[in-house]
Formats: sequence, structure tokens, C-alpha cells
Amino acid sequence: SPETISAMLERIEQDNVKFLRLQFTDLLGLPKNVAIPVKQAEKALTGGIGFDGSSIEGFVRIEESDMVLKPDLSTYTLLPWRPRENRVARFICDVCKPDGHSFEGDPRYVLQRAMEDAAKDGYVFNTGPELEFFLFKVLDGRPTTQFQDGGGYFDLAPTDLAEDLRREAVLALTEMGFEIEASHHEVAESQHEIDFKYSDALHTADNVITFKFAVKTMALMRGLHASFMAKPIYGINGSGMHTNCSLAKDGANAFYDPDAPLQLSKTCMHFIGGLLRHAKAITRVANPTINSYKRLVPGYEAPCYISWSASNRSTLIRVPAPRGNSTRVEFRSPDPTCNPYLAFAAMLTAGMEGVREEIEPPVGAGNNIYHMTSVERDRAGIETLPGDLYEAHQALIADDLICRALGPHVVEALTNATNAEWDAYRTAVHPWELDRYLATY
Ligand code: GLU
Ligand code: MG
Ligand code: MG
Repeated sequence: SPETISAMLERIEQDNVKFLRLQFTDLLGLPKNVAIPVKQAEKALTGGIGFDGSSIEGFVRIEESDMVLKPDLSTYTLLPWRPRENRVARFICDVCKPDGHSFEGDPRYVLQRAMEDAAKDGYVFNTGPELEFFLFKVLDGRPTTQFQDGGGYFDLAPTDLAEDLRREAVLALTEMGFEIEASHHEVAESQHEIDFKYSDALHTADNVITFKFAVKTMALMRGLHASFMAKPIYGINGSGMHTNCSLAKDGANAFYDPDAPLQLSKTCMHFIGGLLRHAKAITRVANPTINSYKRLVPGYEAPCYISWSASNRSTLIRVPAPRGNSTRVEFRSPDPTCNPYLAFAAMLTAGMEGVREEIEPPVGAGNNIYHMTSVERDRAGIETLPGDLYEAHQALIADDLICRALGPHVVEALTNATNAEWDAYRTAVHPWELDRYLATY
């Protein structure tokens, strides 16, 4: 409304902002932005700012390329690492067509649609992601895979750069409105995790994008590269983006029922049932790179079997111990290369089908599934997640529900992306092959 716009303009002036970054996300989940001088603020906030959509991955063809960015006023934040004089602020934008309608290829819109659908039954989808990443040294301006430290899980630093960097990142993110819950060294050398408070899935997806570029920026300022790649190094843990999920109804956690088995409500059990039913298709968006599948292998705390459990970490879905308002299920397959808007939309749609169709999940896995034989797994009806991007994409195409949730525009763009990526990978000669064959043959 005009009042909110004029209040926003006033705030921009009070904050001494001179540049506005209008930010959005392409199909791959990479942040894009255009900077405008503050003089253009009123125009941007009232009518939006036009841009050429044909140059953005997964957007539109050249003949229909005029797109409009409409800032979401609730996403206003100052960029704390930019100069304190003549400040820079950013808005996350919705992408619209010239006629003002939402653009079907905007990942944010895909998630908004899925959330509106859940709202019909009175549900709000809340997500809390746990983003892991590596800090690598930069040599001659290029990122390497050289560790910046040799620490392990929860280690304290022998005053390393990482300790200072985590501190700076936490301070910057807090200034940007994040509520940081914890930060720690992860299991692998040079691997870290910073957790922020859960929120509704749209806000959280916005936060994931902001988080990654903030951490990357802070790292760069210390001469390091923060990598969110899923499995940068063979033989040690990869980086996950475990996503804690819950539904709220009338302000209460709909997954909690003090009188139910495990104190998990029917809604919660059915949500798990839906997630498991569509797990293969979800994998395509939760694990979107060739490299993602090198993480989903046994032995590194990442899931590879389609199962759930109230406790053990080898399953796809784990139910963390807290109950009451903190009741949630932890979906462990996503990795931080995913487009969080698409991944959350797919997860919510699958879970909502479970709730609506009252899908009962199979009995929870009691044992560490990494240690079961394939015969034992077959007998227990435990299936495997797709083994590579190609297989995951086939699973997506075969899943009507998830395809409908993403919409034909996004599915077509994902198909093009998969084909290009898979062909490039399939025909490349990898160092592994040379090591293995060159001397022998
Ligand atoms: N890094 C592990 C993964 O790939 C997760 C470790 C943990 O449980 O936090 O998902
Ligand atoms: Mg972790
Ligand atoms: Mg976790």
C-alpha cells in the first residue's frame, strides 16, 4: 500500500542508504541481483524494475524476455559488510511478467503456491535448515581444496581463522535479522555448521540464500573460500542441509500429540508417510548436482536408504528428541547446493499428500541401516535413494504430484539442465579413470 511504501522510503533515507540491491534466485538457486541508486527507490517499490529474463538460467526464451522485479518489502535488510557511509540495502524480489502476473519460473513463486495450498487446510510449513560448509584456502585468486584447519566435531580452535570467521559471520547475520542458534566445527577437517532459527518455509528459503552469500562474502574478506558443495573431498563427510520440518495449525505445533505413540501426532506420521512416498522425486531438487550423489553413500552420516527412525542417523528421516512446540522431523537428504524454494515446495507437497491421504509410514528402522545386508533391507522393504542425478530426474518425471507442484515451466527447465549436465559429465574423462586405466592398458 502507499503508506507502507512511503514508510519504507523514509526508513531507507534514515538508514542513509544510497544503493539498493534487488535480489532474486535463478532455477539453480543462485542469487542474482541488480543494484539501483536510491533515487530509483520509489519507482522500484511502486512499479518494480524491468530486467532481461533471457539471460537468467532456467528463466525464459529470448523472444519473451521482459521481466519485472517486485521487491518484497518485508525482506529489507542492510548489508553489514558494505561501507557504513552511503549504505547498501537489499530486497528479495518476486519475479513478474510484464502483465504483472507472477512468473511460473520464479522458484519463490513455486514455494508460495505450495504454501497457499497447505494454507487451505490451515497449515503453515515451518523449516529449520542446518547448513554445513567447508573453508578452503585460496591461492592465486582461485579456491583450492586445501583445508584451512585440521579440527573435528565441536573442536575448539588453536586460534585459527575459522573461529574469527564464524564469529564475524554470526555477528553479520545477526545484524541482518537472523537468530543464530549455534555455530560449531563439524566432523570433517575445515568443515563448519551455523544454525539459525526455524521460520515459515518462505522466510527460511530467503534466509538460506542470504546465509550462503553472506558466509561466502565474509570468507572472501579473510582470503578464504566457503564452499557449500555437497562432497568436495572423497573419503570424508560431505556437507548436508538437514531440514527440520513441522506443520503449525492455529499457532500450535501440529506434529505434537502428548497422548500418541512417541508423542507424534497422526499429522506428523502421515507427513512422514508422504515424504517417504515421494522421496525419490524430491531428491532431484534436494540434491541437484552431479556431485550431490557422491555424498549420499553409506558411512558418512548422510542418508542413502528411504526410511525413517525415531533416533538413528543412518535414515532419511530422523525424529529429533525434543517434543512440545519443538516437535519436528529432520529430513536429512538435502544438501546446500539445492534451490531451497524448490526443495521446500517438493517436501511440503509430498508431506501434505501424506496428511490428506492419511498415508501410514512403514515401521521405523530400529537398526543402523548402514550395517544391514541388501537382503535384510529388501526383506524390510527399504528402498534406496536415486544413485545419480539422471536416475533422480527420471524419478521426478515419473512423479505427477511433485511435477505439478513445480509446474511445467520448471520441470522443463530442470530437464534441460539435467540433460546438459549429465551429457557433460558422462563424456568427460575424469582423473579417476586415468589413475585406474592409463598405466594398465
Ligand atoms: N555431514 C553430514 C551429512 O552429510 C551430517 C553430519 C551431521 O549429522 O550433522 O549430512
Ligand atoms: Mg551437522
Ligand atoms: Mg542434523
